[in-house]
Amino acid sequence: MTPSGDSPANILRDVLSRKVSVLGSTGSIGVSTLDVVAHARAHYGEDVLPLEALTAQSSVDALVAQARKFRPRLAVIGDEARYGDLKEKLSGTGIEVAAGNAAVRDAAARHSDAVMVAIVGAAALEPALAAVARGATIALANKECVVAAGDIFRSALSASRAVVVPVDSEHNAVFQVLDFAQSHAVDRVTLTASGGPFRQWTRERMRSATPDEAVAHPNWSMGAKISVDSATLMNKGLELIEAHFLFALAPDKLGVIVHPQSIVHCLVSYADGSTLAHLSAPDMRTPIAYALAWPRRMTSPSHRLDLARVKQLSFEEPDTDRFPCLALAQDCMRLGGAAPTILNAANEVAVKAFLTRRIGFLEIARVIEETLQVTHNSQPGRPADLNDILAIDTQARHAADALCRKLAA
Ligand code: NAD
Ligand code: MG
Repeated sequence: MTPSGDSPANILRDVLSRKVSVLGSTGSIGVSTLDVVAHARAHYGEDVLPLEALTAQSSVDALVAQARKFRPRLAVIGDEARYGDLKEKLSGTGIEVAAGNAAVRDAAARHSDAVMVAIVGAAALEPALAAVARGATIALANKECVVAAGDIFRSALSASRAVVVPVDSEHNAVFQVLDFAQSHAVDRVTLTASGGPFRQWTRERMRSATPDEAVAHPNWSMGAKISVDSATLMNKGLELIEAHFLFALAPDKLGVIVHPQSIVHCLVSYADGSTLAHLSAPDMRTPIAYALAWPRRMTSPSHRLDLARVKQLSFEEPDTDRFPCLALAQDCMRLGGAAPTILNAANEVAVKAFLTRRIGFLEIARVIEETLQVTHNSQPGRPADLNDILAIDTQARHAADALCRKLAA
């Protein structure tokens, strides 16, 4: 189908002519993003959403398959040891290849209209800032970069023409229903949480939870790290901090409610007593399509919402006794300064130690809490720039790693 003239489809096609780079293209969000691109190309024409760059950390074969199918101008592998393999497998295609962390950052800095930031962890921070600095539209799936460097991320944004369109489903929902012109009239923004796979587990049962059990999320299929974050409820804690920075909302205006069906993604309550909600089936291709077509809307291959089949929407208070990571994140949001940076770094280390079976599930919160005690007390003040953030992040990772070693011994 090729639209012509000034039809709405043609105007949309104009938006869809923008060039896109996908950082972290082989992960859960990256693959869903390319699914949305494939769907858009089938629907609006093969030339829509041309790709500038695809990047991945270590999965050469997946990256090669994506590059052959989607024809980006550049393919980057983060792990330099895999450069030769990537080069060989893409030889003769005309696709440029590069490797290393700096090359991932350069891919973000290279001209494109929109950048999907779907790298996991604070590793996304420097590439995201590179895309912000040149004024790109940022489709932001990664939350750790905002948590680790909130103030710096915000000031970089205000110093550039860049716009962030959040992809994290709750933040995408808030972006759609928050009346930015009347933010003074917003009483409360509530993020929903599925409650994760251990919603009804006792702490005793969680003590022996395995990585397989933790990543088996009831509603979403996601990367391992965010799946564990959902099981500890740290994901919701990180999301509160993400919302605090992205929407400039005071901590006391931000809340969480557990909603096991994952149909309602946010609730925005106003001074007059109105509450606006955003609903969709739990399918990340919906917020991804929104971010890629923003400020318009395009078709997506997402599952559609059928409330008659869902039947019930239920809600309950989160239990911070069983899920202490949520309370730790709330404390760090209120503290500000270096606390969210330390929280995020310690969490990344602890989740990795849990996934590699070096520590138990309940020890994730313990490592984070102790890292905060050790590292936060030694911080002289608020991080002033990116170098401060990176130094605090490194210090917290070392402290958390030492604690994991002690627990594993
Ligand atoms: P994932 O682990 O499935 O994929 C991560 C991607 O990043 C892969 O392509 C990997 O190659 C790349 N990567 C990993 N380490 C890297 C590094 N050090 N440098 C450069 N690239 C690296 O993760 P995911 O589930 O797709 O999540 C990605 C981000 O999106 C996370 O920040 C997560 O919190 C956020 N998010 C994910 C979902 C979801 O449904 N999966 C939902 C909301 C938000
Ligand atoms: Mg989310």
